[in-house]
Amino acid sequence: MKHPLLARIGTVCLAGALAAGVLAYGLPDLSLPAPGVALSLAPPITVPAWTQQVDTLERGETLSSLLAGAGLPGADIVGALEAAVGFDSRRARAGMPVTVRTFAADTTPSELIFQLAIDRLLHVRRSAQGWASEEVRLPWTTDTIVVSGTIRSNLYEAIDRGAGDNLTPAARAELAWTIADIYEYRVDMSRELREGDALRVLFERSVGPGGAVRVGKVLAARFVLSGEAVEAIRYASASVGGDYFDQTGRSLRAAFLRTPVAFRRISSRFGMRRHPILGTMRRHQGIDYAASSGTPVRAIGDGVVLFAGRKGGYGNVLEIRHRNGFVSRYGHLRGFARSVRRGSRVTIAQTVAYVGSTGLSTAPHLHFEVLVNGVHRNPRVALNQKGGDPIPKRERAEFDGQRAMLVASLDQAVQTPVDVASMEEAP
Ligand SMILES: [Zn+2]
Repeated sequence: MKHPLLARIGTVCLAGALAAGVLAYGLPDLSLPAPGVALSLAPPITVPAWTQQVDTLERGETLSSLLAGAGLPGADIVGALEAAVGFDSRRARAGMPVTVRTFAADTTPSELIFQLAIDRLLHVRRSAQGWASEEVRLPWTTDTIVVSGTIRSNLYEAIDRGAGDNLTPAARAELAWTIADIYEYRVDMSRELREGDALRVLFERSVGPGGAVRVGKVLAARFVLSGEAVEAIRYASASVGGDYFDQTGRSLRAAFLRTPVAFRRISSRFGMRRHPILGTMRRHQGIDYAASSGTPVRAIGDGVVLFAGRKGGYGNVLEIRHRNGFVSRYGHLRGFARSVRRGSRVTIAQTVAYVGSTGLSTAPHLHFEVLVNGVHRNPRVALNQKGGDPIPKRERAEFDGQRAMLVASLDQAVQTPVDVASMEEAP
């Protein structure tokens, strides 16, 4: 189907304006890089004036019928699609933008541009030798930004407010997940954050064609949890690999994850409040995580499976024995991961089961318990860890130097405008 506006207007482009033409097709709101940058990606040829229209492949529509509708003769459709290297036209996704361009000297379309991905274009062009294709990558630019926020209800909401216009909604969620992953040995972001906890994070942001935004590496972060600051400083060396360390130089990795359900699996829609089931189970001795059926359940630490099967009100239940008398228990499961049975070894963060609603349960959720030497313990207390291995002594000076640099960047004023509330709340 023709793009309602562009199809009608078309675009007339003059010779020499190839770069702008390549980038502008179908994406009128693009912020264009300097033409010279993009031009280097395109072949150095003289391009005649042309007109173009941008169509979108509809659900159920074939690429051939779209091209025929755009005036491309049958023989050219076959030739062009055969020349489209690495592109299977039968698998073209609905919604894919297709630009059909006709040079001034031609009576039928001379060039087709398929947008394979947000940053990948496949140009298929006709010449005297027939049709030939070339893939063009659109550039991403990377910068480093600081986002700060204060918890009012949950992490998603704090980052939404703190990021303002600097991140797209998808990138904000990605940032929340990335932070939760970095701190997953220290804090259960879905259950343990309190109002007033504050976050500041320095990270790489990539901005791509059409305003797409990706969250790159987090370089440094500081989370103030119940008044206590826990830094996450990225530090990489041959001996420690790439990892995060707190301000005392201890690895954020530890023996146990704080939660068996990854934060990215708990949407902002639910799981942030107490689950209604909680009040209905008598002598409740664990933590409930509301998550949809089939959500992966992770082993909280290395261990050996003690039990995997049905057990009364727990429904399908998994028990894992860890070191130092620790046992973790996961209830109401829909099922177990393959190879998980009594006696099998599991490693930390391995998917061992799936959330369900078996046993005494009225909605899908994970019931999670921790026992130490056979006695129920509050997981929040039992799994509280102050950190993993320290930076090797001989690298300590280097780590301290790198930390000082990153913390200075972390604490500098947020360069790009953020909303007033988060600026005032920044530490
Ligand atoms: Zn429960």
